[in-house]
Parts: sequence; structure tokens; C-alpha cells
Amino acid sequence: MSDVFFNGILSGNVDDAQKFVESVKQARREGRLSRHLNIRYDEKQTAIYIALDRNRVTRPLVVVKNGISMLTKDKLDTLKNRNVTWNELVDQGVIEYVDAMEEEDSLVALDENELSDKHTHMEINPVTIFGICTSMVPYANFNQSSRLNRGQKTQKQAMGCYTLNYLNRMDTALDLLHYPQTPLVRSFSQSMIGEERAAGQNVVIAIINYDGYNMSDALVLNKASVERGLGRSTHFRPYITEKLRYPGGQVDEILVPTKDIQGYTLERDYRFLNEDGIIYPEAVIGGGDVLIGKASPPRFLGKLEAFSTAANIRKDTSVRTRYGEDGIVSKVVITENEDGSMLIKVDVRDSRAPEIGDKFSSRHGQKGIVGAIVPPQDLPFTSSGIVPDILFSPNGLPKRMTVAQLIEALGGKVGSLAGRTIDGTSFQSEDSKSLREQLQDLGFRDDGTETMYDGRTGKQYVARIFVGNMYYLRLKHQVADKIQARARGPVTLLTRQPTEGKAKEGGLRLGEMEKDSFVAHGASLLMKERFDSDRTIIWICGKCGDSAVHDAYRNKAYCMCGEKVNIHPVEMSYAFKLFLDELKSLHLKPKLGLGDKY
Ligand SMILES: [Zn+2]
Repeated sequence: MSDVFFNGILSGNVDDAQKFVESVKQARREGRLSRHLNIRYDEKQTAIYIALDRNRVTRPLVVVKNGISMLTKDKLDTLKNRNVTWNELVDQGVIEYVDAMEEEDSLVALDENELSDKHTHMEINPVTIFGICTSMVPYANFNQSSRLNRGQKTQKQAMGCYTLNYLNRMDTALDLLHYPQTPLVRSFSQSMIGEERAAGQNVVIAIINYDGYNMSDALVLNKASVERGLGRSTHFRPYITEKLRYPGGQVDEILVPTKDIQGYTLERDYRFLNEDGIIYPEAVIGGGDVLIGKASPPRFLGKLEAFSTAANIRKDTSVRTRYGEDGIVSKVVITENEDGSMLIKVDVRDSRAPEIGDKFSSRHGQKGIVGAIVPPQDLPFTSSGIVPDILFSPNGLPKRMTVAQLIEALGGKVGSLAGRTIDGTSFQSEDSKSLREQLQDLGFRDDGTETMYDGRTGKQYVARIFVGNMYYLRLKHQVADKIQARARGPVTLLTRQPTEGKAKEGGLRLGEMEKDSFVAHGASLLMKERFDSDRTIIWICGKCGDSAVHDAYRNKAYCMCGEKVNIHPVEMSYAFKLFLDELKSLHLKPKLGLGDKY
């Protein structure tokens, strides 16, 4: 006997589970039950689960009976002549929707050749085993599966032109590729999603090392290509503020702050503000510049203070450009929010050409950063005079086994020479054999290699170099957003150590492992300098080992334990002093034993 759960609730039991499940499935296929109903028999739990609740993801599959697909040749012909619709096929029980639960209980064949008596379903098309992003990887069935995951992820991070009305929009952190191209080697999903929604560029790559500037994952870019617009993009960032009303009749003010306002910084910070306290379009700004001048009343006002002078003190709450970011004011929008308060948005744009450290990727999860941007005359060139746009390291291929990367390059070469696009849809792509034959007909070596010459010496390379055309994506991770350095700056209140993070003008943390590396190098002075960022002097009693009191005015020290004791200044890290205090708060008494250093 098996329990039956309907939408997760125990609803009864049946004697013959297998027969019951079959009859429910049959009833669904005949249209007597909802097509959205899914059922599964769990043998281990001897339970039957029926689901008809909302928000389950289902996908269509062809029904298979006794090893024969229900989508017969006759059915396919009527479908081609448009004499039958999709919904009719579902009603006829040829296609059914299966959710993740029922899929556990099914055996799905990839295509007709694979069918056996055990199969319950067949894919409508083999490529449907991938998601949208993965299906956009050309020749994906030649890649290692983990590379597909990465390739799919990089496509989501690629810059493109996702909408044409970006000038009228205020998206948070938008990166727009200037010259997007549709891929030469593409899968069918590219045309489903839209040719105009391209997010990359077709480039000529050569698989060759260049002095180690492209070691492991790095890339070498052709400087001329960058100057012609390869990977060029614009970064947009909005800055938003509201003119709020507070209880007690206080309001924010949008103005050019005057020197009597609390928190007023340098006069030059406010130099771009118009009389209304708002910056003008096309102003060239740098980090820390004020975009919108704003003064707010003090946050907490008591009943009495509302009538006193404290009510007139206002704080500078101006909107400033983020630390380390510069650009040009693109547009200024003044409007109202839902509550009727004034809302001001300032959009700042920054044009960015690829620089060393920017991230690029092919569609096969082969991502890397730019290691060098080299003038074209110093790059290798082919016998026909082609200088590649990108140099990719051959060491990136054996371990990662991205065979599709090579096939795409080969296909791209054929496509660009023949002036057509190549179908790289997984499982049904143009095969590499025919690509090689076509390449030979076009007057090139069939394996894609070419004789190349070193641009610096003019000497011919002994090895033949693989050259092809690939679709490259520029990813949104850019050096300009991440680069940071500081000498002096703010510290945190609690530990007195430098702040962390770029937004807080922070430093880079030198952690335990970095310390080990300094120790191994014997760089003791550098380490001493690095670790005294929170240096402090605490007076310690030599008798009881507790911290003593030091009267700096009289230059005398006292301790709780009595008179005539030796009290010494001890240099330590403020974080250590904090640790001692925290121990004390746990009712533990830390004692410092003082000894002579020499
Ligand atoms: Zn003492």
C-alpha cells in the first residue's frame, strides 16, 4: 500500500501504486486531467506525489511509448504543413509538460537514435537540455561540462547594448559596449534572442605566447585594435537624492552650501554647482566633487531644542562623486517621488578604453585579463599580413579541454572568409570536417595554422601558429572600478586600524599569509612598518601586570595595587589593548609580565 500526497498533503492510499500512476498519466494524456498535473512514485518511501500547485517550472517533452516516439513522421508532416498546432499536439498526448519531480521518474532520450523500451520521453531538440545562456555557447557539446558553466556565466557579465533608450533611463551601474557585433559562429538561440542584442565583438586571435605577457590566463591586445574601438565602453552611474520632510516642520534644502553649515568642506568641492545647488550637464568631475548641494536639519531634536538655536544648525549632506571615480555629468533629472518630495538624479558617464587588467572572455569560459597592450608593429603577423587583435596563450588549452574554442576559431575563419555566419548550435552544428575542407578551398591550411613572423625581429617562427576568428566578450569587471591605493587616511573607531574597502578610502589588508611571506623574505623592517598602523603606548604596572593610569600633565603614573610600584610604558597594537579589555569584560584577568629586553 502506498500513501498518496496531493500538493504535499496526505490524501489517502492506493494498493497498486505502479498501476495508479500509469492510469493518472494516461488520463492526463487523454485530456481527462489537467495538463499541468504531475505525478511521481517514490519506491523507497512507498509514496505517490501528485503536484498541481503553482510556480512549478515545467518543460515540454515528446511522449515515448514502448520505445516509439509519439511524434511520428505523419505528425511531423502535418506540423510542417501547419495543419496542427502545438496545443493540439499536447491535447493528443504527443507532447506533455513535465516538472522536476516527474522528471526524476522518467528516462529521457536525447534523440530518436537513442530510444529503447525503457525510455518514457524524448527531447524535442537535444539543445533543450541547456538553458538559454548555455545554448548560446557554440559547439557546446565539444566542451567539458564545467567550462560550459563558466562560459554561461561570462555571457551574463558581458557588456553589450541591451536597450537603445539608455539615454532616457537611469540604470544603476550600466556598462555599454560601443561597437557590438553579432557573432560569426552562433547558435540558433542567438537569433531567438535577437541579433541586435549582441554582447561582444569578432576578433582575430592567434594562439601564441608573447614574452609571458599572456601567461596562464592573460591576454595581449593589439594597440591599434584598441584605438579602432575594440572593447570600448561607457560606464554610467546615477547619483540620487531626495528633498525630505521631517516631523516638526523641518525640511532638507537644496542649495549651494555656505561656510556656516556643519561639515562644509573645501570651496573647490562646490565649484560646479549652479545657483539652484545642482550641477550642470557636461561638467567634468572628479572623485569627491559635489553633484547636488544639500543641507539637512540635525537628526534628533528634543522638545526644547526645537525652539533653541540647535534647530538652526544644519548639516552638509551633499551628494558627492564616489571616491576615486571621475567622469562627465551626462544628464540631470529633477522630478518628484511617490510622496511628492523633490527627487534629483544626476547621471555620470565615463568612457573607458580597455586597459591592462580589464577582463575579457570567449564564450567557452576562457576568461582572462589584459596583460599588455602592444603596438601592431611589435606583434606577430601572418604571411598575408594579418596582425591578430588578441594573443591567447596555448597553455590555456590542454588542461581546460575547451575543444569548442578551437572549432569556433576555425568556423569563424571560414565565416569571415566566405562572408556568412556559421551554425554552431550544439549537437546539430556544421561539422569541423566540412569546415576544414572549406578552409582549404579558401586557400588556407585546413588545420587553421599559418606561418607567422615576429614583428620585432622579422624572423619566421619555427612552429606554425593557429589563427582564427572568435567572438570575444568584454566583461564588466574593470580595473577603473577596482584599483585602489592609499598612504594615509581614515581609521576605524574601534580598533584604530585603517578602514577596509574602496568606498571608505580604505587600505589593502596585510593578513596572516602575507605576513608569512614577508617573514620568509626577511623583510622585517617593512613588516614592522606595516603592522604598526595602530601603534599605541599603554602604561603597565610591573607588580600586578594590569594597565595603570598615566597622568600626562604631571608625568606620573599610578596603579590600583599600591604605591612604590614600577610602572612602564609598553608599546603595543591598539587591537591587542582592545583584546585585553574584552577579556576583562568576560571576567578574566589578563596579566602582562614585564621583563628586560636586553
Ligand atoms: Zn599594579
